[in-house]
Amino acid sequence: MNKKIQALALERIYRLFELAELNLKTHPARSKRYIQMARKIGTRTNTRIPDELKPCYCKKCNAFLKKGVNAEHEKEGTILIVKCLECGAEKKTGRKNKA
Ligand SMILES: [Zn+2]
Repeated sequence: MNKKIQALALERIYRLFELAELNLKTHPARSKRYIQMARKIGTRTNTRIPDELKPCYCKKCNAFLKKGVNAEHEKEGTILIVKCLECGAEKKTGRKNKA
């Protein structure tokens, strides 16, 4: 239905994640706001956060998660466990092994 709106929303979500990464070290609070905004756009426009971005943010505190900086990645079979080192929340993202 709203393909156009969703395409635009997706573009903005990617952009906001980019900004969140850029501001992660210099402006952590701002970085979190970008993630918050991206998620809001997602819910408002019924756009799902792309799978590739799912390990990149914390559901609980909205931090942009970067492996080795404020996140730990752990693999359990095909499932990736991402731990936010800011609030301690863990999330599992299922990643099916496709050849
Ligand atoms: Zn967190």
